[in-house]
Amino acid sequence: MKFDSLLGNIGLKERLTASLSGGRASHCYLISGPVGSGKHSLAKLLAAAFQCTEQDKPCGRCNQCRKVFDGIHPDVITVDDEEKKTVSVKLIREACADLYIRPNEGKKKIYLFPRAQDIRTEGQNALLKCIEEPPDYGVFLFLTDHAEQLLTTVRSRCVELRMSPLSDGILTGELRRRFPDADSASLSAAVLRSDGYLGQAITLVENGAALFPQTEEFIPALCSTEPARLLSVLTPMEKMKREQFRPILLQWQTLIAGALRVRSGLPPVHPLCKQLADSRSTAALLKASQVLKEALGLVDANVGLAHICGALSILLR
Ligand SMILES: [Zn+2]
Repeated sequence: MKFDSLLGNIGLKERLTASLSGGRASHCYLISGPVGSGKHSLAKLLAAAFQCTEQDKPCGRCNQCRKVFDGIHPDVITVDDEEKKTVSVKLIREACADLYIRPNEGKKKIYLFPRAQDIRTEGQNALLKCIEEPPDYGVFLFLTDHAEQLLTTVRSRCVELRMSPLSDGILTGELRRRFPDADSASLSAAVLRSDGYLGQAITLVENGAALFPQTEEFIPALCSTEPARLLSVLTPMEKMKREQFRPILLQWQTLIAGALRVRSGLPPVHPLCKQLADSRSTAALLKASQVLKEALGLVDANVGLAHICGALSILLR
């Protein structure tokens, strides 16, 4: 089994397999990536690999592996209180004290921190001591969607494992497998909106994914030769809130990237990508992608949306 059940992330899986089988595993890992990127799946596989008693770790079949996957291994300890906004220093101190009690049955005693970004400075400082010189059976797995919020002193002691987005093909295949009855329009909308992360795509399918209404109008407007159509999409957007505006632009950018892939011979992830690829040249698509990238930069720099929409209606023509 090894790390096969984790989709994509090939380089990362190869690196882990090599370091585990070569006896070069670290005792401290920082698994980073956005929500739905597979951090928890990887943490479970890694914990199983540490406890596994077979050759190909994690085998997924031995008693130790099974206990980890069932979430009942006494030596895999989750340090969190979901009821609380932050992970308290009290919890951290308790974990550090517990670390000096030998494992019950496993080879290792593994502490899993599901939201490391929510450990405040005091807690992180309390952690430092135990991650610096733990007993030889001590392992720490930190999961975070904001690695930058960890102290450099903590971060520098971890091997960082960054989750990568999955390709459209892998995502689509996995969604089809999980949702055999879903219609292909909602699957392709979920793939487009997920940024390549399976967890997000699954949530989107479950909640009935659809594209933004502005997107449904924007792509035909971009395909058409009539400049007024672009204006009629962009003008109402001038009054939007910045946090509503940004994801729409991102979705347009994703669709254009999808159209470019269609032009290079790959199958379309969404019918709108095909429509775009059929009506615009590669050069025009590259230019549109660049224009949107610059527009996103302006959104982040707090430039007025009326100005941005005006610029877009001219530059995308
Ligand atoms: Zn095993």
